[in-house]
Amino acid sequence: MKYNPDIIKSNRKTIQLELRADGKLVVRAPKRMSYRDIEAYVNSNEQWIDRALSKHRSLYGDPLPPYTEKELEEFTALAKAVIPQRVAYYANLLGVNYGKITIRHPKTRWGSCSAKATLSFNCLLTQMPLEILDSVVVHELCHIKQMNHSKKFYDEILRVMPDYFEREKRLKSIGKKYLGRLP
Ligand SMILES: [Zn+2]
Repeated sequence: MKYNPDIIKSNRKTIQLELRADGKLVVRAPKRMSYRDIEAYVNSNEQWIDRALSKHRSLYGDPLPPYTEKELEEFTALAKAVIPQRVAYYANLLGVNYGKITIRHPKTRWGSCSAKATLSFNCLLTQMPLEILDSVVVHELCHIKQMNHSKKFYDEILRVMPDYFEREKRLKSIGKKYLGRLP
């Protein structure tokens, strides 16, 4: 199909086109709609799509290509070299013990912390400013103390990183551009 949109089927009754912030075209369609009908709908909206794409391009520049397997391997190697150091540094400040550290590249999250204090981080963090990488490290380490997003949890974070909320906001605003390039 032209434009190669992501097709998301659900219980909805109508079909709808949308251009995501990362420049990817998304079609939301009713469950039973056929591929051919979806394609016809997309083709009949070419004008709208071209206009939306060129507006997106003028605002954000050309969409960047997906990361290659080789790039992701490099980011992972870099993350394995950098992140454990940052974790050790902040764990010491926070006074917490942690388990294993794993590096992955999930499409929707930057980090996680399991009940056994296994920490997982997205390798794309290495492509961002260190302040942002650190903010994710501190967030996940504080989950070892508080397995929730309560006031207590954020108080722990702010104790070692008073500007945490600014960093979090920056991650939210630039993060999608990186996640959107995962294959
Ligand atoms: Zn969290």
